[in-house]
Amino acid sequence: MERIALGPFETSRVALGTWAIGGWMWGGTDEAESIAAIRAAVERGVTLIDTAPVYGFGRSEEIVGKALAGGLRQKAEIATKCGLAWSDGKVFRDSRAARLRTEVEDSLRRLGTDVIDLYQVHWPDLETPFDETARVLEDLKAAGKIRAVGVSNYAPAQMDAFRAVAKLDAVQPPYNLFEREIEADVLPYAAANGLKVLCYGALCRGLLAGRIGLDTRFTGDDLRRHDPKFQQPVFANYVAAIDALRDFARERFGKSLAALAVRWVLDQGPTIALWGARRPDQLDPVAEIDGWRLDDAAKAEIDAILARHVPEPIAPTFMAPPEKRP
Ligand code: NAP
Repeated sequence: MERIALGPFETSRVALGTWAIGGWMWGGTDEAESIAAIRAAVERGVTLIDTAPVYGFGRSEEIVGKALAGGLRQKAEIATKCGLAWSDGKVFRDSRAARLRTEVEDSLRRLGTDVIDLYQVHWPDLETPFDETARVLEDLKAAGKIRAVGVSNYAPAQMDAFRAVAKLDAVQPPYNLFEREIEADVLPYAAANGLKVLCYGALCRGLLAGRIGLDTRFTGDDLRRHDPKFQQPVFANYVAAIDALRDFARERFGKSLAALAVRWVLDQGPTIALWGARRPDQLDPVAEIDGWRLDDAAKAEIDAILARHVPEPIAPTFMAPPEKRP
């Protein structure tokens, strides 16, 4: 597994995403399968585990803690987040200093660890000065509770405000073949300022994993029941693109669609691809990632496939929590 420097440590360029492991917005969770998936990830060299308090309202962090207990913690790097609060199942942004000081202790307890490797502000809190949030994270680092600092879903101007008072190591935006908005701003900003980019939704919520088709149905609170990409008539365009990309991956490289999608993310800059998985077998294509690259000609062919089938891609804005606190 390729590795990359992130703040004071090295980590894997493919990270395990554990939102679905929390169950909330993914139709529930199976704890035993989830623990097996986390352990399988670390065994396969996917040592960076990304979680958040809000994923299952503490459940994802607790499951990560259980999976890494008993020695595996030393082989893994934990990335978690702060700055989202919840009440009666409703989520809102809160990156005020007092909230973050409480949150870090809650996360450390749930994760069963004494240090968080990467601590990320989950969404920009527009009602709290960015320097207030940044200062707390600097303090937490000085106190040895966190090792590196990241932000998620921040625009460059918001990162400028943050970096005026604190060192920033990473940014976590959405990025995959179908969601490429960051190419206009966040990606060049990160490259110019030495930030690592943890790309979430590298598989576009499973679309690019290769097993979703026109007859796939989602149940319970699964967010894909409401994700605009998964609604007709546009869903058919995405499925047509997937079919064409799957053929391209197989014919040109002898690879799966999932491997092509993740390789593409890794070949776009100082990136880490987050791979959401909740069963060990979902990580099988990880073995196909290393040892090859997409050159400019291959990227151009991919762009042509995308332009043909999805000329007007839909941004993932539906996931944003409300900007104002209740
Ligand atoms: P994703 O990685 O694009 O897709 C994950 C889903 O793809 C899985 O839950 C699984 O769906 C399916 N999948 C994965 N491997 C597969 C395989 N080999 N075969 C078939 N299906 C496969 O989506 P994501 O979980 O939204 O994003 C990844 C991570 O990014 C999250 O877990 C989280 O850590 C992070 N994230 C962060 C933010 C943020 O605001 N910072 C937002 C979103 C996500 P099923 O299990 O349903 O089959």
